[in-house]
Amino acid sequence: MSESTPFRRLAELLGYPDSERLVGILRQILTEEEARWLAALPGTPGQLAGRLGATAEFARQILATLADKGVAVPGEETPTGRTYHRLEIGPLADAVLIDPRYEALGESFYDAWRDFWNDDMLRAAQAPEAIQARDEKPPEFRILPAEAALPTEDVSDHERASWIIARAETIAVAQCPCRRRERRCDHEHEVCLWLDGVARYALERGSARAITHEEALDILERASAAGLVHNTENVRTPRVICNCCSCCCAFLRPHVVHGLDLPVATSRYRAVVDDGACVNCGVCVARCPFGALSQGDGSVQVDISRCTGCGVCAVACPQEALRLAAVGSAAPLHDGQWIGELSD
Ligand code: SF4
Ligand code: SF4
Repeated sequence: MSESTPFRRLAELLGYPDSERLVGILRQILTEEEARWLAALPGTPGQLAGRLGATAEFARQILATLADKGVAVPGEETPTGRTYHRLEIGPLADAVLIDPRYEALGESFYDAWRDFWNDDMLRAAQAPEAIQARDEKPPEFRILPAEAALPTEDVSDHERASWIIARAETIAVAQCPCRRRERRCDHEHEVCLWLDGVARYALERGSARAITHEEALDILERASAAGLVHNTENVRTPRVICNCCSCCCAFLRPHVVHGLDLPVATSRYRAVVDDGACVNCGVCVARCPFGALSQGDGSVQVDISRCTGCGVCAVACPQEALRLAAVGSAAPLHDGQWIGELSD
């Protein structure tokens, strides 16, 4: 029987009670006392001090440390103080993986995350109860089409990256946590766009760089040109835009490499080829991360069942023979934000 420690209790609360890898990772980023406090969240400093037998001052300090380490977030203000929340495993991993202070732990730290992700998490994601939980709600993230590939009319605001960026007051760019964890390609690392409350959380911890609206749009354009797929929160006003490759991304890799269901919503668009303009050069075929394109007799063919409406093929076509066209209506949005406890 495995030992009972605050680290194991935390692994259990994060959804992986049997993961020795996660216990090992937690041991590297937290002291035993910090793990005990993190396991006790949520709560205000006053509530937790009473529950864990500490002074209010000690509670304030240790909760600030947990937030600084990227494992907890300060949430809503209450009459007795601010409530701190434990991050779920996805945002916790992202916050830790983009934090340059953990680089001192060496590559073995990132190896541990990679093994945990590709083995323990992937196995858990295929459990019947996990599949059922995913089926009960709209996906938390959705594919955001490359804007240059969209039609000129009848596009909703939240389907345009430029609209999402324009409404943000604070924008930060961070390292891609998936590429830091997997290290499987040469794509640019500093491409993750965090907005407003999520951006401020990363900026306060020194894990991201503040950028302008114009710089954010440049990053998105560069990412599309490099064949990276935008993914964003599946809500109307998202606070994260990722630029994803299929070899490293936590969303795309399980689908493209391991053949599991795509865990994000597709866009409501699909690629359409202008047969007269297509010269069958194959550039788009190599570009599509989902294997939805093939060279046919004289022009390229689209397998609609594989197309996710990301648009990176259209951006790459030298003949402008590909575009996105709307099919059906938009998928339902999710009802909660990523790190929803963080206010703007
Ligand atoms: S990149 Fe354009 S021209 Fe080349 S095969 Fe694809 S659609 Fe045709
Ligand atoms: S064909 Fe491939 S690259 Fe083009 S929109 Fe569909 S999924 Fe994206």
